[in-house]
Amino acid sequence: MIHGQATAVAVVVAAGAGERLGAAVPKALIPLAGRPLLSHALDRLERSGVIDQVVVVHPPGYEGRFADICRTHGVGTLVPGGVTRTDSVRAGVEAIGPEAARIAVHDAARALTPGDVVARAVAAVEGDVVAAAPGLPIPDTLKRVSGGEVTATLDRSGVWAVHTPQVVRADALRASLAWGRGEAATDDLGLVEQAIAAGKVSGRVVLVDGDVRDLKITYPRDLALAERMLAAEDRAAAPASGGAT
Ligand code: C5P
Repeated sequence: MIHGQATAVAVVVAAGAGERLGAAVPKALIPLAGRPLLSHALDRLERSGVIDQVVVVHPPGYEGRFADICRTHGVGTLVPGGVTRTDSVRAGVEAIGPEAARIAVHDAARALTPGDVVARAVAAVEGDVVAAAPGLPIPDTLKRVSGGEVTATLDRSGVWAVHTPQVVRADALRASLAWGRGEAATDDLGLVEQAIAAGKVSGRVVLVDGDVRDLKITYPRDLALAERMLAAEDRAAAPASGGAT
């Protein structure tokens, strides 16, 4: 334990193909400022100071490349993923021992997640809060569109976009996965929400304040944006120049 609370284990899911980026390699291996996305994501989790152990879920067939990255970051547990994201989460959770009190499921595609975002989500899971994730309110108007035609304008009041890490009390995540009817859930909170609705798990699910840097790199334009965000962070962190010498 590195932070004085019950053990928090991160499951970094990296088994997606990343087809929308159009690359020949899995998305987690795509370089951002010269390093794979996965390497950035692992750095950020480490810097948060609240994650005790990490499990990486890799695409089958790419174990060697992923093992090299994991070694660099001191991550010892690497398991192959499945067909759906939930299959990959399940594979990662099965590799975790009983010491885990909270499991933080994180997308490898979120390479720039600030450490304080990770810390807020992990800290929120206590008492009757069984699951928590960072998110941000949606500023745009939302419309349902079919074939380019607007079919409805949706009420966006109280609507948030949800990011990762999605942190769940370990027993609740295991129970939700074992219950197994949440396959249609697009995210881990969704899985838990469905298990709560079915009476399999009890507790509340909450969102904490997220950050725009927690973007999921999905399209080529996201890579360019992430490069700019990284450069801005580096500039902010650089010691002030002393001017002319
Ligand atoms: O495809 P999407 O962008 O929703 O994927 C989100 C995260 O889930 C990515 O980090 C991806 O690698 C991971 N994933 C996975 N196994 C799958 C599908 C997606 O680990 N079968």
